[in-house]
Amino acid sequence: MFDAAIVAIGDELVLGQTVDTNTAWVCQRLASRGIMAKLHLTVPDDRAMIRDAFAQGARTAPWVIVTGGLGPTEDDLTRFAFADALGVELAEDPQAMAHLQTWYAGRGKTMPQTNLVQAMLPAGTTVLPNPVGTAVGMQGSLGGSRVFVMPGVPRELHAIFEESVQPLIDAATAGHFLLTRKINTFGLGESTVAGVLGDLMRRDANPTIGTTVSGGVVSIRLRAETEDRAQAEAMLDDAEAAVRERMGAFVFGVDSELLQEAAVRLLGDKSITVATAESCTGGKVAAALTDVAGSSAVYPGGWVTYANEQKAANLGVDAALIEAEGAVSHAVACAMAEGARREAGVDLAISTTGIAGPSGGTDTKPVGTVWFGLADVGGSRAWHAHLRGNRTMVRDRARMIALQIVRF
Ligand code: ATP
Ligand code: MG
Repeated sequence: MFDAAIVAIGDELVLGQTVDTNTAWVCQRLASRGIMAKLHLTVPDDRAMIRDAFAQGARTAPWVIVTGGLGPTEDDLTRFAFADALGVELAEDPQAMAHLQTWYAGRGKTMPQTNLVQAMLPAGTTVLPNPVGTAVGMQGSLGGSRVFVMPGVPRELHAIFEESVQPLIDAATAGHFLLTRKINTFGLGESTVAGVLGDLMRRDANPTIGTTVSGGVVSIRLRAETEDRAQAEAMLDDAEAAVRERMGAFVFGVDSELLQEAAVRLLGDKSITVATAESCTGGKVAAALTDVAGSSAVYPGGWVTYANEQKAANLGVDAALIEAEGAVSHAVACAMAEGARREAGVDLAISTTGIAGPSGGTDTKPVGTVWFGLADVGGSRAWHAHLRGNRTMVRDRARMIALQIVRF
């Protein structure tokens, strides 16, 4: 009942000229109702292959959603292949014919003879009305599965699906809930996270727990399936609590919350003000913090001190110290943070100084070496990281680490 198969049809898809967005769109619609599309097929405009795809889809799942190849041209073969799979002939459908006639009459045009084929449906199937185009969709039953066939034009697919398919799916899945939640972490790699979560990630658990990584953020995905919405929410709450207990402060937010939003929220909760002293990140930390509405309550501002003279002039970093230790060092990161804290009169200051590359690295300080300083009432500390990737990646990752240090 809660499985589906998706078939996307078109030479342009298998040639990689058009990215198949239809399948993703349909899958998201189905997933929100607890239906998982367990089979995705993409086939060219080939009648036998399309026929086989119909058959395989129907063997696999009770819901089969097919898009593409309903146009009036020679390469639009889906209706013929659907008839082949059903073992029936095409027949003119009065509702489809009326739709075509109304469509052209409403635009003061005569219908091209080539479009007549769009009124032909496999015997025994019915029309899915198309409010925005000439090609009506069709639905039928194949081997006990419900099959929905719609045009490939995304706008038309969306309109037909929403008007005719979604209500059927909603009715069939009433009383079934699939709720998801994403818990976002930063600072540990994906395999480390998986190790920490361990048994929580059992494939047969409910909620299921999985991980995905994007832009350095490892997200822990929770997915609960039940007959009762409140119960599903409670299951997610329990799973979230278990995940948070194991992951501790590496968790920064839920669903779409960003690291900077989490940092500003936390500082606000604790009434802590922060200043920034940035070298290699060039203001990225400041930009991220000020992206958050209301950040002025916790972030008065900071400095971009890229050249050594600016570190000395604005933050009072001793020129002799930079000479002795190098700008990318524990001592200078601390001195920058202390200077920013003093000059801004804040509780906390964070600094970045590193080698973003591509040139400028040495044996002892390779490209990607970044020091982070943190100054508070108790003095200052510093940490360093060796970040991989190109200049942009090093700078972006450094920004995220700085925000995470502020949160810790
Ligand atoms: P119509 O019946 O309205 O003429 P069709 O069913 O014949 O449409 P196609 O001719 O295959 O559909 O494609 C029409 C347009 O839709 C093309 O621009 C094509 O690239 C796009 N399209 C088709 N399939 C997909 C898909 N799976 N994802 C995104 N775009 C698609
Ligand atoms: Mg096509």
